[in-house]
Amino acid sequence: MKSLLLAGLLALTPAAHAQTLRIEAENGQIANVAVQTQNSGFSGAGYVGNFSQDDARVSFKLPNIKAGIYHLKLRYSAPYGEKNFDFKVNGIGGSGHLTALKDSFGWTDAGKIELQNGTNDISIERGWGYFLLDAIEVAPAPVVPLKPVPTRLVDAKASLVTRALYRRLLRDYRRKTLSGQFDIKDTEFVRQQTGVLPSVYGSDLIDYSPSRREHGSKPEGQSEATIQRIKKTGQILTLTWHWNSPSGLIDATYTNGEGKSIEAPWWRGFYTDATRFDVQKALADPGGANYKLLLRDIDAIAVELKKYQAANVPILWRPLHEAPGGWFWWGAKGPESFKSLWHLVFQRLTQTHGLHNLIWTWAGDARAAWYPGDKYVDIVGTDLYPSDGRDSLAGQFDALKVQYDGKKPIALCEVGGVPDIARMKRFGVNWLYFASWTGDLGPQKVAPDELKRRYLAPEVVNVKP
Ligand code: CA
Repeated sequence: MKSLLLAGLLALTPAAHAQTLRIEAENGQIANVAVQTQNSGFSGAGYVGNFSQDDARVSFKLPNIKAGIYHLKLRYSAPYGEKNFDFKVNGIGGSGHLTALKDSFGWTDAGKIELQNGTNDISIERGWGYFLLDAIEVAPAPVVPLKPVPTRLVDAKASLVTRALYRRLLRDYRRKTLSGQFDIKDTEFVRQQTGVLPSVYGSDLIDYSPSRREHGSKPEGQSEATIQRIKKTGQILTLTWHWNSPSGLIDATYTNGEGKSIEAPWWRGFYTDATRFDVQKALADPGGANYKLLLRDIDAIAVELKKYQAANVPILWRPLHEAPGGWFWWGAKGPESFKSLWHLVFQRLTQTHGLHNLIWTWAGDARAAWYPGDKYVDIVGTDLYPSDGRDSLAGQFDALKVQYDGKKPIALCEVGGVPDIARMKRFGVNWLYFASWTGDLGPQKVAPDELKRRYLAPEVVNVKP
């Protein structure tokens, strides 16, 4: 009887829960920015504006918080058009976007943040500046798990090893994230620092672009060496192709329309500003010389991809990456020509060349107009270079999740530094894999102890060396 009563009491006792908390901006600690009242529609005693000075910021102390993930909401006005702002939560940086809001104040969800038990510090900082801040709110953000995705690849003739690799990837998806690293030197650096090998190894077919070979690049043996390495380490291969434009290389320094000097040597020929090649025009004229050059280049790459197929090595194949950014020529003329080129590469490699060892990996962003379509993409991904290496990247992940959850797995195909996967999981950010870029942007950016902690987290899948 006693225990039943106790159980009843426990059930009636409300569980400690995370709460919504709202603070007027004018009640924060204000630096290099002023409280104003001239625009109408604010709440409380005024608002803070307009963040024009470099170090403009408003800081808040949030008391009695229960640890967890929260939405950060801002009540704001952006009379001069859309703006980005920066924020810090307990010293960890992030940024958010404010759509234009001219003659009124309104709420926006500025992204997810992580709060600790007790008192937390939040500051809203300048970013692009020229916005008005009326109030902030933090509200609990429930983490919604990812849905399972179909196990079928878009290439109906995908080979056995390719299908097996995809199943292996999906086995860990939604729970864990595979680690990855581009370049041999950086991969060995990770092994030396952490004692494990990244699951994914990244390489680039850049020097097999015919317009680079014409200028003397000598990639001979690279494919063979990569195959050998993959066979030896048991890593998963991802291949990028910084496609040097088929023709029209500027190969000189010039002054652009804005009076800026642009260095455009032949080896920067994958950049929009280093070539006159017009992808839209080339695709519009299938009988023309430039169209033939597109095919020539795809065929040259097919020669390499066939070596992997012959060796039974499946590939996370990531061509035409970052098209929405427009800085590579294949994205310079908008989404329609990009998608046409993707479809051409897909048809040419799978049908004309009979390549069935490719898992089609698209690195774009949340703008659906740039998505080549469910029939042409196996893995949806994005490339990100966060300014704070602790960034959860929840905003970018959630934007992709809205569109592709339950359809395609979501990957961090290329990233600056090494992401903190354990932290990301608390935000519900579950990348299929990540692959860190090389050099100054790569793993050296992370302190040795931190690199080890990030790699050896139980949420991260590595290859034992
Ligand atoms: Ca206010």
